[in-house]
Amino acid sequence: MLTRYNKFSDYLKHRFSSQVRKLPLDLGLTCPNRDGTLSVGGCIYCDEKGSGTGKKRYSIEEQVERGLEELQRKGVNKVIGYFQSFSNTYCSPEFLEKNLNLLLKYPEIVLIYLGTRPDAVTEGHLKVLEKVNKRKELGIEYGLQSSNDNTLNLINRQHTLKDFIDAVNLTKKFKLFITAHIIIGLPGETEQDNIITARTLSSLPIDSVKIHQLYIVRDTRLELLYLTGEFIPIRFDDSVKNTVSTLRNLRRDIIIQRLTGDPKPGQLVAPEWINDKSNFISAVENLLEEFGAFQGDRI
Ligand code: SF4
Repeated sequence: MLTRYNKFSDYLKHRFSSQVRKLPLDLGLTCPNRDGTLSVGGCIYCDEKGSGTGKKRYSIEEQVERGLEELQRKGVNKVIGYFQSFSNTYCSPEFLEKNLNLLLKYPEIVLIYLGTRPDAVTEGHLKVLEKVNKRKELGIEYGLQSSNDNTLNLINRQHTLKDFIDAVNLTKKFKLFITAHIIIGLPGETEQDNIITARTLSSLPIDSVKIHQLYIVRDTRLELLYLTGEFIPIRFDDSVKNTVSTLRNLRRDIIIQRLTGDPKPGQLVAPEWINDKSNFISAVENLLEEFGAFQGDRI
């Protein structure tokens, strides 16, 4: 089968000629959308525990060494040090620098990725990231989810599309690799909203995208909306179709890091089909094939 979209796994294979896996790391931070600065509830799909890795009780060096040991037993010798939990720039630039510097001594860490909110980054943070990036390649991941401000409001993101665009443009001045995180199946969104989000990203200096399918986890506001019948999760076929439309409207050079996410064991409420990740990915690839379509062929 032809490669109809720009897969992250191919990019890593080409760059590092061996298997590269993510090693999740936790700085023990929180998020302004949870600690009362912007809101206490957080985004409607985010659960307080679910965003963390549970590793923050260990120092960063302990987390790296434990993680490397486990991955090396599986034959993996190259990893991405991945700060995923909460907002990883929601701290002082000095704290960030001190912790990132701890990763520089591990040759097994070939990349550092760090996820955050677009409104939680300052020039001070970006200067630190630029400095680290000169010694070990570093990328930043911003959650956008949708380019529709009404949707952002509905899901309680507490930032706007403009905040995201400003963060991306500022970050590019520091020559960092930028990933955007988007979600298919958000309340009230249609295929057209997904297309507009994809085209918006294509107009910005983005290097890579992570596409997630919205799923409901326990102890979230979304669960409550689902249980009261106010939110109905997107159907499998619609999610596949909207993902294909998203890919067709993303610039061909943008790397696609993922097409769907993984709920933590025991946390998923609905939809059940989310659990079969490879079935979803195959359905997207088959539909691209059936249409004779490629990433970016609609722009
Ligand atoms: S910005 Fe991220 S960590 Fe904060 S509430 Fe939303 S999903 Fe959760």
